[in-house]
Amino acid sequence: MRSHISTDEMMRVFSYGVTAAEVSDSLAHIVACPKCWDLAAEIIADLKKSKDLVPARRGRPPEWRFQDDRDALIVLMEIEERQSVGALRAKGWWAELRDLSPRDQAEKVSSVAAVQKKEVFEEIVQEAKHLGPIDPFAAEHLAMSAHLLVDRLPASEFPGRVKEGLRLSAMTVVANSRRLASNWTGALSAISEAQRCQARGQPSTTERAYLLSIHASLLCDLGQLDESISLVIQAAGLYQSIGDPKGVAAMKVQASDALYGAGKADEAIKMAEDALALLSSDSEAVRLKLLARSIIIESMVALGRPTAARRRYEATKHLYHEVGGRLTLLRGEYLEAKLLDALGHARESEKLFRKAIDGVTEMEVYRLSFLFRFAFFESLFKRDALGKAARLCEESIELLQITKGSHAQMSQVWKDLLAAVKAEGLKEYHLAIMRDYLVRHWAAPAPRVPVFIEV
Ligand SMILES: [Zn+2]
Repeated sequence: MRSHISTDEMMRVFSYGVTAAEVSDSLAHIVACPKCWDLAAEIIADLKKSKDLVPARRGRPPEWRFQDDRDALIVLMEIEERQSVGALRAKGWWAELRDLSPRDQAEKVSSVAAVQKKEVFEEIVQEAKHLGPIDPFAAEHLAMSAHLLVDRLPASEFPGRVKEGLRLSAMTVVANSRRLASNWTGALSAISEAQRCQARGQPSTTERAYLLSIHASLLCDLGQLDESISLVIQAAGLYQSIGDPKGVAAMKVQASDALYGAGKADEAIKMAEDALALLSSDSEAVRLKLLARSIIIESMVALGRPTAARRRYEATKHLYHEVGGRLTLLRGEYLEAKLLDALGHARESEKLFRKAIDGVTEMEVYRLSFLFRFAFFESLFKRDALGKAARLCEESIELLQITKGSHAQMSQVWKDLLAAVKAEGLKEYHLAIMRDYLVRHWAAPAPRVPVFIEV
């Protein structure tokens, strides 16, 4: 590649004294070099301002430009500018809309032409995605506003098949928001609606992959782990086809989480290591790396490899604070508790288990709270602290009575577990059954209740 172009040279490239043939090397360089592209864009903007780019005053008609390759470059720059200014203006419009009530927001979306832009749609969808884990109800309502906005986009610019792709995006965010709010039937119906949009339109690869990944998360929550993994693998294939290694890695991390849940710790490690290899040169994907490494550490503990897990943890622990957020830190404490337990430090482990459990319960992340509780239960049971294990069951049963979204069978199973502990009838192999039950049947009861006492 030739060296960068100086300001003087660049002025000459866009002057009328030279021909396109004379500057064709420079043009090829500008297209390939972001630095010179920026310089060219600045010089063109200056020339436009001083009206030298369209030299009308030299007696030429205003639409006359270079009439050569340089025009193509200028048109590309104009498109880029229009898009970036459009996105900025969308932010302004969105700032005005975001604090309105749902009703007023919908009203504005239908009545104000300036809001009816694809950039505003994208801004709302982005905000809804971001808001999902924090406030799923607000996120759902935002995504519905975005969905409504699609109807108002001008048909001349956005034909039906394109609109269906946008609706698919909005409905996928609706599905994810409902999933995060434990509204399982609502989430499933939003997925069906998104699938109908997919069938009617020509969604982009990214839109299709995102739908698959959210559908997979939903199935994972509903305990259908194998189906979930198969959808995630499909989504990874889509990201692969458009050369998006971060997308592929995110799907592999999602798959490894489901594999761990399904009791396949060795496969989970392999999948998470694959993801990390894809992310090795990406300095930004800290959260994803932390997730992958945490799954590896927990899987190593499950496979009875505490030393390897501890070493891995040493190399990972700085990421917890780097990523930050209360839930991340609580997950870190949970992992530390498991590690201490595996290394034989019961007392310290117990304190961290308690801290992590209390934290997620206070945050009302109940599914996690009961998974943490059972991990603590296993630790107590294995070191014969049966009194403490029984008290933990009683406490969990009490919490289930006030937990929104839990079903009666879940309480029954914890009661059976308590009875088995009290009767000293619980065996080690029962633990895997209970763990599997908690992973698969948080959202919906099982056809058959697990049995913990031999009759
Ligand atoms: Zn350059």
